Amino acid sequence: MNLRVPGPTPCPDEVLQAGAAPMINHRGPEFAAIMEEVTANLKEVFQTKNDLLVLTASGTGVMEAAVVNTLSPGDKVLCVSIGAFGDRLAAIAQAFGAQVIKQDFRQGSAADPEAIREALSKDSEIRALLVTHNETSTGVTNDMKAISRVAKELDKLIIVDAISSMSSIPFPVDEWGCDIVMSGSQKGWMCPPGLAMVSVSERAWEAHKHAKMPRYYWDFTQTKRSLEHNETPWTPAVSIFASLQVALRLMKQEGMANIYARQERIGRMTREGIKALGLSPFADASHASNTVTAVTVPEGINAGTLIKTIRDEHNVELAGGQGSLTGKIFRVGHLGHVTEEDISQVLAAIRESLPKVGFTGGLAPQTAQEVK
Ligand SMILES: *Cc1c(COP(=O)(O)O)cnc(C)c1O
Repeated sequence: MNLRVPGPTPCPDEVLQAGAAPMINHRGPEFAAIMEEVTANLKEVFQTKNDLLVLTASGTGVMEAAVVNTLSPGDKVLCVSIGAFGDRLAAIAQAFGAQVIKQDFRQGSAADPEAIREALSKDSEIRALLVTHNETSTGVTNDMKAISRVAKELDKLIIVDAISSMSSIPFPVDEWGCDIVMSGSQKGWMCPPGLAMVSVSERAWEAHKHAKMPRYYWDFTQTKRSLEHNETPWTPAVSIFASLQVALRLMKQEGMANIYARQERIGRMTREGIKALGLSPFADASHASNTVTAVTVPEGINAGTLIKTIRDEHNVELAGGQGSLTGKIFRVGHLGHVTEEDISQVLAAIRESLPKVGFTGGLAPQTAQEVK
C-alpha cells in the first residue's frame, strides 16, 4: 500500500523493527538513554535551546497541553485560522474558557501578517497568538517568520501548531522566537502515531507559572521534573520512543538540509503533476505546502468514488477533504518517508482513475477561489 494521507505516514523498516523490540522498564537506564538521545536530536531539528518535552499523545493532545499550560480562563487570545486545524486550536482554547478572538482567512490562502498585526494592535488585552504553521486540511503553509515577527513586536506569547511541518519544512524556533511549538510522531517523523513533541520557551514557562486552566496529565511542570532524570511522569509509549530514536538517526544521516530540499522537490513535483493531469491544486501557489497537496475535485466528479477507485485499483491511499471541504478536495500526503517514485505512482493512479469516474476534461477546472 502506498499510504499517502497526511498522517499516519509510512515508516522505514528499521523504525518499525525498533518499535517491535521487547518491552523495557520505563524507569530503567535503557529507556533513559533513549530519551536523552531523542530529546537532544529533537532540539536540533526544532533548532532550539528551549526545553523540549515529549508527551504520549496524538497531535490534538499536545494542542490541548499547549493551551492549558500557558493560559487561564478568561484570557483573551487571537486564534488565526486558515482551515480545520486552526479551527481546532481555537475550539480547544474556547473549551477551556479562553476568550477567543477568531481571525479566519479564506481556505486555500495563507494568513496575512499585516492583518494579524491589525487584529493584535486593536486590543492590548490579547495575551497570546495561536496559529497553525502548516494547515493540513488545505495544503497551505503560513509565513511563520513574518507572523512571529509581528507577534514579537507586539509582545504576545506565540503558540504554534507545527504538527505537519516540523522536520519537513524549515522552522528555526529560536530564531523566529516562537514560545510553544508542537509536532507529532506520525507526521514528518517517519514514526507511528503515539508521541507528540513540544518546545517551551522561557517566556512560556513564565506564562505557565500563572496559568490557571485545569490540567493533570498534561502538566508541563511534572513533565519537566521527570525529564531531569530522562523519565516521563506517566508510562510513555515506549515502543514509539524506540522507533523515534531510530528515525532521528536516519534523519541525521540524510541531513536536515537534504530532507528540506527533498520535501521541496516532492512538493513541486506533486503540484506540477496534478496540473499536468488537468486538475488544480486547491492552495494558492504562493503558499502551497511541501508536505501535503490538496486538489480541487472537478465539477461533476464524486470525490469518494475517485478516492475509492484509486485505492481499490492502484493500492494508493489518498485523503478526502475535512469539514466544509468534504467532497470538494482530495489530499496527497507527502511528508516523512517519501520518494519521487511514490509520487509518480500516485500521479499514475490518479491519471488512470479519472476517466473511470467520469472526468473528460484535460482542461483546468474552476480554481478554488471560484468554487468558494
Ligand atoms: C495531524 C494534525 C494535528 C493533530 O491530529 P491528531 O489526529 O490528533 O494527531 C493537528 N494539527 C495539524 C496541522 C495536523 O496536521
